[in-house]
Amino acid sequence: MEHETDVVLVGVGTGGEDLALRLLGAGLDVVGVEPNLIGGECAYWACLPSKLMIRAANLLQEARRVNGVAGTADVTPDWGLLATRVRREVTGGWDDSTAVARFEGRGGRLVRGYGRLAGPRTVAVGDDRFTARRGVVLATGSQPAIPPIPGLADVGYWTTHDVIAAETLPASLVVLGGGTVGCELGQVLARFGAQVTIVEQRDRLLPAEEPEAAGVLAGALSDEGIAVHTGAPVEKVSADDEQIAVTTADGTVLRAERLLVATGRSIDVSGLGLDTVGVDPSAGRVPVDGRCRVADGVWALGDVTGTAMFTHVALHQAGIVADDILGLEPADADERPPPRATFTDPEVAAVGLTEAAARDLGIAFDVVVKQLPATFRGWLHGPGNAGVFKLVVDRDAGVLVGATAVGPEAGETLGMLALAVHARVPLNGLRRMIYAFPSFHGGIGETIGAYARGLVTVLDPDFDPLVP
Ligand SMILES: Cc1cc2nc3c(=O)[nH]c(=O)nc-3n(C[C@H](O)[C@H](O)[C@H](O)COP(=O)(O)OP(=O)(O)OC[C@H]3O[C@@H](n4cnc5c(N)ncnc54)[C@H](O)[C@@H]3O)c2cc1C
Repeated sequence: MEHETDVVLVGVGTGGEDLALRLLGAGLDVVGVEPNLIGGECAYWACLPSKLMIRAANLLQEARRVNGVAGTADVTPDWGLLATRVRREVTGGWDDSTAVARFEGRGGRLVRGYGRLAGPRTVAVGDDRFTARRGVVLATGSQPAIPPIPGLADVGYWTTHDVIAAETLPASLVVLGGGTVGCELGQVLARFGAQVTIVEQRDRLLPAEEPEAAGVLAGALSDEGIAVHTGAPVEKVSADDEQIAVTTADGTVLRAERLLVATGRSIDVSGLGLDTVGVDPSAGRVPVDGRCRVADGVWALGDVTGTAMFTHVALHQAGIVADDILGLEPADADERPPPRATFTDPEVAAVGLTEAAARDLGIAFDVVVKQLPATFRGWLHGPGNAGVFKLVVDRDAGVLVGATAVGPEAGETLGMLALAVHARVPLNGLRRMIYAFPSFHGGIGETIGAYARGLVTVLDPDFDPLVP
């Protein structure tokens, strides 16, 4: 059957739903094509449930930190309670009827199924064809990347979805992948009582971040009993009735009840019909320009574009696409690398260039590193104060071009660092700024002060700021 509309949205997930509501609010006729849950990965399987779980796990750990510091606490984790909260409080039992009602209540037409381009401004869903007067938006997201490790396909591994939906806590878990998601979820399960091992093939956790950040995180995870194996590519996986066995290249065999594959995300464009609008699908993503345009009358946003895979990026792109479709003030997508946060405890937050990236660019730069316990607030904080600041300073321009904060609330401290890096605030201004005392973000001022005094690295974790 043939249909007509203003906009066809292929994928009404995290970014797609946001765009749909913007376009509907502006009075456009929108057809949303979605085979799964309206609202997508972030709402049901990723950011929201994982952050609720992290908050619960952090509460447990903070309670444990009471001992010997402020009293005594005997902590009894209850995974069943958490699983119920995930179901009831964030995911609605993986039921999207509220989101569907919101979308349809504002005039959206929902088509359940997989959509693919069938020529300019046309989308096919089964036997139905939808022609879009304004255009088509592709927002089909990404999937867990499953590495081609011998035996892996046969062992019934978990993906992040299985952790989020788990009704019972496994006694033990090997996490394949020491990136953001593997570290976040591994720590949650460990804090609830699972014996967790993280295996990372590169030489450190969070390989995209500063080595100092990875070092602090690895130390914190080890201190709470998580086994961390880095530089450990996995050669094969096998299973018997009881356990899964993971063998690394050096012959180490790691056994656990469950195996979580957290080795990143992959993009599948094979079924999107890109060739029908003159776009080569072999790029393995949907390439976009500054306005998120793919071809005449076709836009894309979110993970499928292969830009940084974050909800804040998908939502930013949704705004760009909405403005472009609605003919509002033309603004290009912000091409600066977005801020990135890993919500482990300690949190790892970063923006802009790492030291290695600055070196690759060939700019003249300095680096200043200060351990969090060597700042006033970090020192006062006591238990749970593992952390570090690392700033990359463009020497010629006198601005920060990269910054990393690790520690409690580092994801919040990141706000100031992102502003400084993205707005190229002069370092002198940052040095003279008045920071609330004693705040975590005040540590940035202390770090810049150390740099101004010619100290490039303040590494001594036993530093006592009250001793002259
Ligand atoms: C465990 C985990 C935790 C995360 N935590 C964070 C976090 O704290 N902060 C953060 O910024 N990011 C986080 N992310 C990343 C974030 O979830 C994604 O970047 C974001 O959800 C991507 O949004 P999207 O709109 O591109 O895709 P999605 O939300 O995945 O939506 C894509 C939709 O397209 C649909 N679809 C696919 N193919 C078709 C088709 N052919 N036709 C129609 N529909 C189709 C899918 O069913 C899906 O609903 C996390 C990811 C994971 C896995």
